Amino acid sequence: MNIVNKKKILITGLSNKYSISFGIANCLYKYGAKLAFTYQNEKIKNKILKIAQDFNSDIVLPCDVSSDESIQNLFIQLKKKWKTFDGFIHSIAYAPTEELKDDYINTVTRKGFIISHSISSYSLVALAKFCRNMLNPYSSIVTLTYLGAERVVPNYNVMGPAKASLEANVKYMANYMGEKNIRVNGISSGPIKTLASSRIKNFRKMLSFYKNVTPLKIIINSEDIGNCATFLCSDLSKGITGEIIHVDGGFHITTMNLLE
Ligand code: NAD
Repeated sequence: MNIVNKKKILITGLSNKYSISFGIANCLYKYGAKLAFTYQNEKIKNKILKIAQDFNSDIVLPCDVSSDESIQNLFIQLKKKWKTFDGFIHSIAYAPTEELKDDYINTVTRKGFIISHSISSYSLVALAKFCRNMLNPYSSIVTLTYLGAERVVPNYNVMGPAKASLEANVKYMANYMGEKNIRVNGISSGPIKTLASSRIKNFRKMLSFYKNVTPLKIIINSEDIGNCATFLCSDLSKGITGEIIHVDGGFHITTMNLLE
């Protein structure tokens, strides 16, 4: 069932085959979507070009979301290939590694706070700002968030407030883009081993704890996230906007499962 047949979706945040956005691209492609990709910098350009070929895509464009000029340029270039499109996946986050450990109050800095909010949250609305006029009615915007936005997760530190900001961004954007039937939603993913997550202190410990207490007793993978993202990009979810869907095996509903 090609639930996203011929929908044109832009994928951001792809670094390698372990990236969550790779799992999302896989699933969107499997269910019929046409894909375009961005890459953060020249160092990974060739890798992303190769990955894009596997998805039958020759649209691979640079975009560093810390720069408005780079975002604007992305859509100028994309317009040469796609006059309009049907949505994008925002799978981007960054905080300085030295702030992803130990006592939050001691490790957070003004600079780190601003950078993490700018790259991990503002970039979502920045992308939408510059491509709003290219988005077809019934387009879908999907971002990736984490439970650390809602609750304290040790070592997640400054990324917690940044993800909380991202989740509020989802709601405000959903409100103002709804008129044209454009939807904005977030997926709160369980922990998955990737480049970004491996920079969080004790991430491995977090994974094994998670498996023991989560109701479904599974470790979520990027295919699980891809399935949800594909649903959110499809018209099957046309009544859903401003929502954060937890794809975490139910971990977020638990409290004291280790006591059982
Ligand atoms: P990843 O390292 O594969 O992806 C992060 C991406 O962000 C990279 O591709 C990187 O190039 C991009 N990026 C960072 N700064 C950028 C900039 N200035 N301009 C453009 N791109 C930039 O790791 P991932 O785990 O796949 O992360 C994807 C998303 O999923 C992030 O938002 C992350 O917070 C979220 N998430 C991850 C987990 C997890 O456990 N891995 C859990 C919940 C949410």
